[in-house]
Amino acid sequence: MKLSPKTCLAIIGICVLASSCKRESIATLNEVSPAALQKIKAQGFSTDNVRKVNNGYLVEGDIVLTEENLNAQSTSPNLLIASDEQYRTTNLVKALPRTITVSVSGTLTGIAVWSNATDALIARYNALALQVKFTRVASGGNVDIIGFDQGPSGGYITLGSSGFPTSTGDPFNQIKMNTNVQAYGTNPNQGYITSVLQHEMGHCIGFRHTDYFNRALSCGGSKSNERAGTIGAVLIPGTPSGFDAESFMLACSAGTDRTFNPNDIIALNYLY
Ligand SMILES: [Zn+2]
Repeated sequence: MKLSPKTCLAIIGICVLASSCKRESIATLNEVSPAALQKIKAQGFSTDNVRKVNNGYLVEGDIVLTEENLNAQSTSPNLLIASDEQYRTTNLVKALPRTITVSVSGTLTGIAVWSNATDALIARYNALALQVKFTRVASGGNVDIIGFDQGPSGGYITLGSSGFPTSTGDPFNQIKMNTNVQAYGTNPNQGYITSVLQHEMGHCIGFRHTDYFNRALSCGGSKSNERAGTIGAVLIPGTPSGFDAESFMLACSAGTDRTFNPNDIIALNYLY
């Protein structure tokens, strides 16, 4: 009996998935200590599917929390947008006004769609005339965008990841974008990639997920309430109540080019 190429691929896919799932769960059990999970929870993040990565812990699918993040006391305000939506910042970028340089390197170097999406990311932020501006550099940017290749795991695929600003007020210095074919397909859409870069850059300058209090709103599944109750909240008046389905900082992508909505722009202007 012969296997069609398609069947072969499917079987290989299942095998790879099965072994990576297994490795993942072992890694989670062995490498994330109860003390670390406690700190992650205390910072107001979900402890579901936490993964150890080389520079910290990956939480909520795409946020790298460094040891510094876990041990930090936040002095920044919560932003309460409408009645349901919050962006809790940990640290913010300081020394404003400021220009943040952005580079593309590693396996993404010289590939048009990644380069063009990076330019579009910069243009979208700069169009808001914030106190943080972005500019492209050939290499060694304050934020360096690099690729990684990782298939789906635990029922989802990570499109990209990044982290929060340092305690000294510098943006997180790296955005990782998934080059796996199951992330963006064989012919990645520039607008879609731009929107994911906008989201990851949002983390780099201090944004949390809009729906961190209930990831089910954008990710589906069951409700997981991660509201951090101890830090003050600042109400932004004039924003509509209820779930905002189109925020650029929702935890999960709808697979579309989701740019800043009016509430996002209010929050960006408030912070910067
Ligand atoms: Zn995110």
